[in-house]
Amino acid sequence: MYAAVMLAQAGHSVTIYEKNEKLGKKLFITGKGRCNLTNNCEVEELMKHVVTNPKFLYSAFYNCNAQDVMQFFEQNGLELKTERGNRVFPASDHSSDVIKTLEQALKKRKVTICLYHTVTKILTEQVQNQMRAAGVSVKDADGHQKLEYFDAVVVATGGLSYERTGSTGDGLQFARDLGLQVTECLPSLVPFEIKEDFCRELMGLSLRNVTLSCYTKKKNKEKLLYHDQGEMLFTHFGISGPLVLSASAYAGKAKGEPVWVEIDLKPALTMEQLDDRILRDFDAAKNKQVRNALDDLLPKKLIPVMIELAEIDPFKQVNAVTREERERLVSCMKKLTLHVAGTRGYEEAIITKGGVSVKEINPKTMETKQIPGLYFIGEVLDVDALTGGFNLQIAWSTAATVLLTQ
Ligand SMILES: Cc1cc2nc3c(=O)[nH]c(=O)nc-3n(C[C@H](O)[C@H](O)[C@H](O)COP(=O)(O)OP(=O)(O)OC[C@H]3O[C@@H](n4cnc5c(N)ncnc54)[C@H](O)[C@@H]3O)c2cc1C
Repeated sequence: MYAAVMLAQAGHSVTIYEKNEKLGKKLFITGKGRCNLTNNCEVEELMKHVVTNPKFLYSAFYNCNAQDVMQFFEQNGLELKTERGNRVFPASDHSSDVIKTLEQALKKRKVTICLYHTVTKILTEQVQNQMRAAGVSVKDADGHQKLEYFDAVVVATGGLSYERTGSTGDGLQFARDLGLQVTECLPSLVPFEIKEDFCRELMGLSLRNVTLSCYTKKKNKEKLLYHDQGEMLFTHFGISGPLVLSASAYAGKAKGEPVWVEIDLKPALTMEQLDDRILRDFDAAKNKQVRNALDDLLPKKLIPVMIELAEIDPFKQVNAVTREERERLVSCMKKLTLHVAGTRGYEEAIITKGGVSVKEINPKTMETKQIPGLYFIGEVLDVDALTGGFNLQIAWSTAATVLLTQ
């Protein structure tokens, strides 16, 4: 939609083929229905939040940065607001207003919109020994197939996540069919399934201000993939929440090696400080059993789990707890270790990692190097970023960078 507006504005005659009954079905569910449409920061910050192939996006981000996107929406009548972490939302808190703004801009620039039209193939032609894009084969709502010829074709079909929104990976297949390299795809920004059974007991528990470190093994050495402080929660299958989603963006780097996370439940305290704190709490609860003496330190649901992990008898009087037992408790609280069995699937993944290889694409025009006239933009490309409006910024920036060469 953004590419169509920009190209129409530049004087091109543009047609959008959308297989759904309406435009922007994924956009509608973004930001929990509020659409975190970008992150109001400098290009360097945008780059830092891109996990895969940030350098490829350098030109696109400089060509269309977060402020350009905000200006576009504001000039087209959408009031915006910036929240915690520079996250930008429509002031109305309705993603539908972002879609409406784009639709109005498309209408104003006389872009032809063909809903219920599924592109099934990219057409190419041979011009002086060079293959180039010639148009598309589309299937309409009645199942009729027709060939439509164009000077250029821009593929903006998204990735593989939340396929009910229309992103079923068609663009990846078009690329493969044309002999273009597509890197391995994985669900990303996605919850982790955890091997330890006690996670199920903790279902519904959310933790704030904890640190999460995600590790793998490389050449038999421990390798840190991700570390940050924030929020997470336990679910019936494992763990989720902002820290976990971000960690998942780096888990692909483990390349099949085991992945585990360590949670520091008390990052503000050193081991010694935490031990002192436990001693003080135990002192105030001399005649209590261990299971009843940790209420000030841990959420209720976590207490039996931590006591069991530290191998302490929960019915033991606190004054009988040994130094070794206390040390084990401190160590469990500073390093709660969970082994990752896998990630959840595409139906729960905010984005797809992997896609059309950036080696195939000219970063200054988004045109494929091998097939002039064919362009790829947005999530179909092998680029992905953390949460915070960065993935949509990638979509807007790559869209605005399409430069038709013919
Ligand atoms: C639950 C959820 C929340 C998210 N929240 C945010 C957020 O707040 N901020 C953020 O930055 N990012 C967010 N994202 C990520 C963001 O939505 C995507 O990265 C972005 O939408 C990608 O844009 P795109 O145009 O490349 O693809 P999409 O938005 O997936 O659009 C692709 C379109 O192409 C159509 N299509 C596909 N194949 C064909 C075909 N063969 N013929 C015709 N049409 C076709 C689809 O129907 C679809 O409408 C979220 C994602 C999810 C799943």
